[in-house]
Amino acid sequence: MTDFSSEFSGFYKLPLEERQHQLVKLLDLNQEEFELLRTLGYFLPSQIDRLIENVVGSYQLPMGLAFNFKINSKDYIVPMVIEESSVVAAASKIAKIAREHGGFVSDEVKSIMISQIQLTKVKDIDKAKESIAKNKEKILSIANEQDPILNQLGGGAKDLEIREIETRKGKMLILQLLVDVKDAMGANIVNTMAEAVSPYIEDICNAKIYLRIVSNLATHRVAKSRAVFDKNLLGGEEVVEGILNAYEFAVADPYRATTHNKGIMNGIIALTLATGNDTRAIEAGAHAYASISGCYKPLTKFDVDSEGNLVGEIEIPLAFGIIGGITRSHPMARLALKILNVGSAGELAQVAAALGLAQNVGALRALASEGIQKGHMALHSRKIVKLASVSDEIIEEAAERMITDKKIQVGSAKEIIELISKSKNL
Ligand code: NAD
Repeated sequence: MTDFSSEFSGFYKLPLEERQHQLVKLLDLNQEEFELLRTLGYFLPSQIDRLIENVVGSYQLPMGLAFNFKINSKDYIVPMVIEESSVVAAASKIAKIAREHGGFVSDEVKSIMISQIQLTKVKDIDKAKESIAKNKEKILSIANEQDPILNQLGGGAKDLEIREIETRKGKMLILQLLVDVKDAMGANIVNTMAEAVSPYIEDICNAKIYLRIVSNLATHRVAKSRAVFDKNLLGGEEVVEGILNAYEFAVADPYRATTHNKGIMNGIIALTLATGNDTRAIEAGAHAYASISGCYKPLTKFDVDSEGNLVGEIEIPLAFGIIGGITRSHPMARLALKILNVGSAGELAQVAAALGLAQNVGALRALASEGIQKGHMALHSRKIVKLASVSDEIIEEAAERMITDKKIQVGSAKEIIELISKSKNL
């Protein structure tokens, strides 16, 4: 396809249906592919077309439910949107084990977001700092004029932090607005506030301001959760010992810590997606927090109690919203929030932290006992065979044979399907 060009102006100006037709023409798509584009599920064309630019279709993923969660004595059914098998089952299983010793205890999470204002070319750093301190109330009041609804709810800009940083472009002053965003994730709220106060700050500080933007390292919004996991229900002393060893491995080695934290994010991101929250914001914040000491570390900690039960703890910044963004406008996110039954963004973060901890224990338990592949592969093998679009009977038989042969790859799936089909004269 040497004459193929991806240049296309004004795609966004076309109506959705016309964009789909253009794509069909451009790539010579068949009728089946065209129908896929047209299947918008529960979205109205007008709804989906407003979400992002150049929309051509809708993309679906499964939503599963994790059961058994008891957090601060309240029961939750946790909706999870994820394509990876075994994650939902592991969360439910570990949440059940946690119930034996009372479930999870999650601390209160305050909804304080940080908005950064970058002051450069500051003539006199000390004088600028003094001016900011002297005019703090004025700065906060300009910020708070931007969101009367938030103010009525008791939220809004509450405080300022000033940081001095050395950069290759010289010294910069970073003014941080601390904003209580209540039940919102808050990025839009704090960005608006930072932009609004900047001309005034430029004026009183005799400086040039460039960036005015939320920080996704939400250190004032850290969620903490802990639970005791019964030694016997986990599989005995050896399994607990294996988990403790896995944990120490992660503490000492960033290569392992990354995968350790990935397991935590399996749960948290699945809940983030289900509730229409910003997965990139949660991921970025989590991994930055994991390296806040200067070295990338696990987001959980493990120990044993006097009876040898596993005691787990998680600490992670979680900027979740139950209002704003698409949390209320996406039909499935709205339903997920109804299933979860949380009354505030802080409560959602408390659930997410517990879920992350459960997910981590689930993965470590599997690694420390039967190995991760056993649970994973039963479902994964079916997924691979399903790619071949054959009957359910053949899928089951082929999946089982792949597990027995320990060859769970698309290539071997094809071979096995061919063999089975031949033996059945299909
Ligand atoms: P938003 O602007 O959609 O809604 C927040 C508004 O809801 C507030 O301004 C407030 O007036 C109103 N509100 C009503 N009831 C409220 C309550 N109980 N608590 C709080 N506010 C209430 O949402 P947002 O949370 O400011 O922004 C989130 C969106 O911003 C996400 O979609 C995110 O993807 C996006 N975003 C993220 C980044 C980033 O993370 N770097 C940057 C820009 C935008």
